[in-house]
Amino acid sequence: MIQKNAKRTEWARDKMVETQLVPRGITDERVLSAMRKVPRHLFVPEMQRGSAYEDHPLPIGEGQTISQPFMVAIMTQSLRLTGEETVLEIGTGSGYQTAVLAEIAGKVYSVERIASLTGTARKVLDSLGYRNVLVRLSDGTMGWEEYAPYDRILVTAGSPSVPQPLVDQLAPGGILVIPVGGDFSQELVRVTKREDGSTDEENLGGCVFVKLLGKHGWKERG
Ligand code: SAH
Repeated sequence: MIQKNAKRTEWARDKMVETQLVPRGITDERVLSAMRKVPRHLFVPEMQRGSAYEDHPLPIGEGQTISQPFMVAIMTQSLRLTGEETVLEIGTGSGYQTAVLAEIAGKVYSVERIASLTGTARKVLDSLGYRNVLVRLSDGTMGWEEYAPYDRILVTAGSPSVPQPLVDQLAPGGILVIPVGGDFSQELVRVTKREDGSTDEENLGGCVFVKLLGKHGWKERG
């Protein structure tokens, strides 16, 4: 039974990659192979397992969502990882994106503001044996000073603007990818930091994310 399930989810992942990712321009082999490998169904609530490999986001509790597989792929590909980088992720959520990053990067530091989500994500990541991941409960708009600078920073929630602490904690030559815009839709923005510390911004296209709530994001309603 377990064998049969493993085969079935492996098949579902291959199909996800071949029908949702490759035809839409995901070409980075590291991203494709990470997404063929990471068991996405283990990162969603049991009720949602049957839909884990479908082409849309899914609720993970606390009003939050696990991003659509394609969105995870395009964001990861936009980071141009080579395998050794230290990555900061803001918005751990289910921990799925964290696992995909952990497959490709050297080390992943991930910050989440909702305690129950950090608890669940840590458990799944631990059980899958990801030893190069640290998850922290705090306001990610402040970054994670202790391990800065980061070669790459990925924000998986939408922000009204690029939080300055994240730009400050990005290493020279580093890349930051973040959805920036209004309440209901954003643009995926890639910020590249040059060796002299100046930055360059590119627009990678439209997207829809839950809000980045915090000191340098959307203000929490009191
Ligand atoms: N990458 C996640 C997507 C989660 S949705 C996944 O694959 O499942 C975005 C997450 O960002 C939510 O869990 C939300 O609680 C979190 N978030 C919002 N504002 C935050 C902040 N200031 N610091 C850390 N996490 C934040």
